[in-house]
Amino acid sequence: MSDTTAIFNAIEQAQTIIIHRHQRPDPDALGSQFGLKLTLQHAFPDKRIFAVGTVPNDLGWLGQSDTVSDDQYTDALVITVDTANTERIDDDRFNQGRQLVKIDHHPNDDNYGDLSWVLPDASSTSELIVDFIDAHQDALSLTRDAALLFYAGIVGDTGRFLYPATSAHTFAVASELLATGIDAAEVGRHENELSRGLGRLMGDVLANIEIDKFGAAHYVISQAQLASLSLATSEVQPLVSTPGRLADVRAWLLFVENPDGSYRVHLRSKGPAINELAKAHHGGGHDLASGANAADQQEVDDMIASLSKLMQQWQQTH
Ligand code: AMP
Repeated sequence: MSDTTAIFNAIEQAQTIIIHRHQRPDPDALGSQFGLKLTLQHAFPDKRIFAVGTVPNDLGWLGQSDTVSDDQYTDALVITVDTANTERIDDDRFNQGRQLVKIDHHPNDDNYGDLSWVLPDASSTSELIVDFIDAHQDALSLTRDAALLFYAGIVGDTGRFLYPATSAHTFAVASELLATGIDAAEVGRHENELSRGLGRLMGDVLANIEIDKFGAAHYVISQAQLASLSLATSEVQPLVSTPGRLADVRAWLLFVENPDGSYRVHLRSKGPAINELAKAHHGGGHDLASGANAADQQEVDDMIASLSKLMQQWQQTH
């Protein structure tokens, strides 16, 4: 593990610490954020430690954010977790503190912050935060409440230990978390359960996703479809991995129409890297899991064609 002493020293010196993470959070964003907050509160009860950003209803079981006034930023140490680029940070007051620290596991395309600790090979930011705690165990310890949050983050970002970033170290960290006495099955249930509307949509994705002869697949979720199932745009995240369960699908695009007619795009792959395609469409992310945006139907069609071409090229060499 690379040296995290400078970050630890900054934490020790700060009286106010405000933790941010990315917009549209997932269990890893919230687990690493709230878990770090609980850990620092436990170690430093006299410091003021906050977590900010909007929490979607379906992830409320992980915790709630704090209300932080602008003047509390004046002398604060701001830490962002799980957020590759500044545009995606939830709450744009992140740069109003005295010092900014970035802790993340995405490719470091935007090396922002006064101090940063970025390990793209880590399964999740939650795994990284546990490593951070272990590296500074003279001062920091793993409480059961924080362990549950980190476990939720790891389970979320590894797709229940399915994705390639799941390493021997990931399992060692998960074991350490379970040893605190957390109810891992309860976390599994939370992350596995679906609302009726989402269940119906999942059935439709599996039945009707379009798959071409190269294994490139796509499915478009419209606003009308969401309305008929009483689902909000933000609620479809649990479906993003669903197409990958089909053996014929090698890489896929899940388009989710926004109320203004543009599309949020989720890109996933079991083979070729798709993050360059995401970057070409106002997005980014990991080799096999990225996010992007499409302005209109034309851009949707362009992305479908690009993925098909990418898969065709990949098949020729594999
Ligand atoms: P998503 O499809 O939204 O679950 O995102 C998949 C991965 O790509 C996550 O690790 C995100 O942090 C990352 N990601 C999503 N959207 C963007 C973006 N606009 N810029 C950079 N990274 C992104």
